[in-house]
Amino acid sequence: MSCPICKKTSSVDKKIMPFCSSRCKEVDLYKWFSGSYSIPVVEYDDISEEELEKLQNLPEEEDK
Ligand SMILES: [Zn+2]
Repeated sequence: MSCPICKKTSSVDKKIMPFCSSRCKEVDLYKWFSGSYSIPVVEYDDISEEELEKLQNLPEEEDK
């Protein structure tokens, strides 16, 4: 099985599967949040740890 994000071998950790790492799992979540999940997998390797932290801290509700 391979990671849907980066195509590396998936982790055997059930909390992380089918991703290779918690990082890729977070990237996947971000893709859902951003509504761009239909876009084919591209390079997400340039997302920094700092950006991922920001993504995790996204507000749950937006006032528009
Ligand atoms: Zn991965």
